Amino acid sequence: MIDLLIRGAELFDGSGAPPRHADVAVVEGRIARIAPRLGDAEGARRIVEADGLALMPGIVDSHTHFDAQITWDPTLSPSPALGVTTAVIGNCGFTIAPCRPGDREITMRNLTQVEGMSIDALRQGIAWGFETFPEYLAQLRAAGSVANVAAYVGHSSVRTWVMGSDAAKRAATADEIAQMQAIVREAMVHGAVGFASSTSPAHNGEGGLPMPSRLASDAEMAALVGAMGEGGRGVYMLTKGGHTPIPFLESLAAATGRPVMVAALLHNSVNPTAVFADLDAIAAANARGRRMLGQVSCCPLSMDFTLASPYPVEGLVSWKPALGLAGAALEAVLADKAFRDAVRAELATPTTFRLFNSEWEKVQVVEATRPELQRFEQRTIAEIAAESGRDPLDTLLDLALADGLKTVFTAMLLNSDEDAVGRMLNDPHSIVSLSDAGAHLTFFNDAGFGLHLLGHWSRERGTMSLAEAVRRLTSHPASVFGFERRGLVREGYAADLLLFDPKTVGRGPKRRVHDLPGGAARLTTDAVGVHGVWVNGRQVADANGLLPDAPRAGALLTRFSD
Ligand SMILES: [Zn+2]
Repeated sequence: MIDLLIRGAELFDGSGAPPRHADVAVVEGRIARIAPRLGDAEGARRIVEADGLALMPGIVDSHTHFDAQITWDPTLSPSPALGVTTAVIGNCGFTIAPCRPGDREITMRNLTQVEGMSIDALRQGIAWGFETFPEYLAQLRAAGSVANVAAYVGHSSVRTWVMGSDAAKRAATADEIAQMQAIVREAMVHGAVGFASSTSPAHNGEGGLPMPSRLASDAEMAALVGAMGEGGRGVYMLTKGGHTPIPFLESLAAATGRPVMVAALLHNSVNPTAVFADLDAIAAANARGRRMLGQVSCCPLSMDFTLASPYPVEGLVSWKPALGLAGAALEAVLADKAFRDAVRAELATPTTFRLFNSEWEKVQVVEATRPELQRFEQRTIAEIAAESGRDPLDTLLDLALADGLKTVFTAMLLNSDEDAVGRMLNDPHSIVSLSDAGAHLTFFNDAGFGLHLLGHWSRERGTMSLAEAVRRLTSHPASVFGFERRGLVREGYAADLLLFDPKTVGRGPKRRVHDLPGGAARLTTDAVGVHGVWVNGRQVADANGLLPDAPRAGALLTRFSD
């Protein structure tokens, strides 16, 4: 008995091969038959007539932060409605397991700072039914989710489990490293997809302290990646800072034989060759037999922010005096001339990676609360500063201070040079990723990155063929992670499917909604041109978005091929 028959679509099977017209039959969650014309449809429980539409495997989102959200929102909103059928969680090592009850508060405070998640939403939302990583996986498995999920074990959580509050303050002892290794080994045995970490200076936790993994020595990093790879499984994922250059990461790839995913390769107009130097170093490593990939993004990185929580500048060393402050104490620091001079001096110094690079013409006022300031809305800081003959940093801070730090700004930070980004997307050593779905919810929302690749980059710009864009979103990541029988529309494969209109597919504009636990705000985005999304053969979304009663059809992925 056929459960689902999709008839007449142009099939992009995920391999990169040219499309062909085919009917696809699904039985018990798997693709049972593919043929130019499947005649006997009488027996099919459900038939979808798809003439003029395109069918592809569901999108794999390899860089999400749904670790907390999934415990209160098994729909993983908004990703499945945007064509995502598999999400990898735990990126950058910012996980919520393992976590002892006494460390829950600091874990939530860290996530608030580093991933821009509302502390109220986390406090009201997270279902803490676990302490260890295996217990966390058991909770996810019991609750189910709309999309398939694979989880990294996260360095910062492992470090906090072993070292408590010292995790963000000092190097680990040999004994502590051994304890961390044991946790990573246990996580791998229970089905972690790999080990994730961060050494990025942009990643600060509660009170401006570095996220715990940033305190790791090279020896600690090597020991933990080694523990991950002992069983011949697992992907090592790192959002890197300056002190973990590609040659060091290559040494870990060589020692373990495991794939290494390097984030976040975002193009910076102020230092335009840096990401290409990284991609070249990765290519050279691969020529020596390693398996390394650079995570690149097909979305310009723009962020909405207020000066009460200005993520784009919080990675600056000179911003430290303001980190963790609020209200009058924060306003006093922002008004201080010495503080401003230090920030100006740092912004004038060249560096390899910095989120904000004094591109004041790319910083805009979105919304001011005081009526007399609303004339600045939709104008750039560069314009406003030039008009008054004042310094742009002073202009930004004085405007915010005059508005009780409530002014919303938006900054186009990185990845806005489309010729350069196009080259990165086509680089054979890159992986299209970095949506950060589930995080930075008030700053930006790139959960629709896959639809953006199909619509903007393939159809509108012609940067790659549609077949290649589909491959980049499906079988490519699925093969890197070893997702068994996923990522292709092929007989015997899981029926993770996306039906879309190639003439219109894309992502809609971002909009603000207040649907997090406690009513906190987030940005979301709607799909354009999506007609249906199926996870393991069950429909979860249609042309109107997520089905109101979307089934928890996703599987927790815990077994991976090499
Ligand atoms: Zn991340």
